[in-house]
Amino acid sequence: MSLHHHILAATYYPIKLAKAIGRPLGLIHENQLRVLLYHDIDPRDQANFAAQMRWLQRSWNFVSAEQFADMVSGHEPIRGRNLLLAFDDGFASNRVVAEEVLNPMGIKALFFVMSYFVDLEDVDEVRHFIAKNIYPGTHAAGLPAHWRTMGWADLEALLQQGHSIGGHTRTHARLSQIKNEPDLEREIIASADALEQRLGVPIEHFAYTFGDLASFSDQALAVARRRFRFIYSGLRGDNVGGVSPYALRRDSAAFQDAFSNYSVFSNSLLGAFLEGAADFKYADDIARLSSWARQI
Ligand SMILES: [Zn+2]
Repeated sequence: MSLHHHILAATYYPIKLAKAIGRPLGLIHENQLRVLLYHDIDPRDQANFAAQMRWLQRSWNFVSAEQFADMVSGHEPIRGRNLLLAFDDGFASNRVVAEEVLNPMGIKALFFVMSYFVDLEDVDEVRHFIAKNIYPGTHAAGLPAHWRTMGWADLEALLQQGHSIGGHTRTHARLSQIKNEPDLEREIIASADALEQRLGVPIEHFAYTFGDLASFSDQALAVARRRFRFIYSGLRGDNVGGVSPYALRRDSAAFQDAFSNYSVFSNSLLGAFLEGAADFKYADDIARLSSWARQI
């Protein structure tokens, strides 16, 4: 854990205490709508993940993608502390944790997947795709051994279990590097159409790749808003107070080590992020993303 993560984690209980005192005094906004973002869950980390879900459930109300959509569109009031669980990239472990952890707890999640990646079946092809497109600069041979992609049957099973599927481009392209409109449309629109056709459900949620503002562009956002009702970033923050549905905030919930393995944050660090302890660091980027979302 880095030094600044140690410091952030140490803020969690003081923040909780300050909020506990401030809430009855009317000093604290108690209505929250945040999105918690995971990627792969390493099988060795699944018990930690399950414990983390149980810990979160004590102070957060997990909402489905539909409930989140209603709240962020203003159709439903946002009351209390609401959390949508999201997973990016469509790793095979996502279905495992859905069935073994989330379903028994009644938690519905939103899974963002790449249409081209879902289609890959050959294990070596999958690993080369991950090294080239999801973690550029890594080598297939060095990736965690358990990494696989979910196929169509996995996505159908998740839908049947009440979970939701969103678009995450076709090939995990970095959209800020694409200037050509037809190429953007292929990555953003055609890929979602392919998911919708194959799965038979509307695909209305889109998470742009890599999550930072430098990986997105106003041009790509303009293409995405023609196709989707909701566009998610990887920038931390709350989604209350009439935020644009095209500039949604998400909180990353895991570390990645030098070998690309993910491990879930400690509860106090995750708690600090969800209390908004690091939101200020993202304010400028969120203001810029929101200004793109206001352009027509
Ligand atoms: Zn991704």
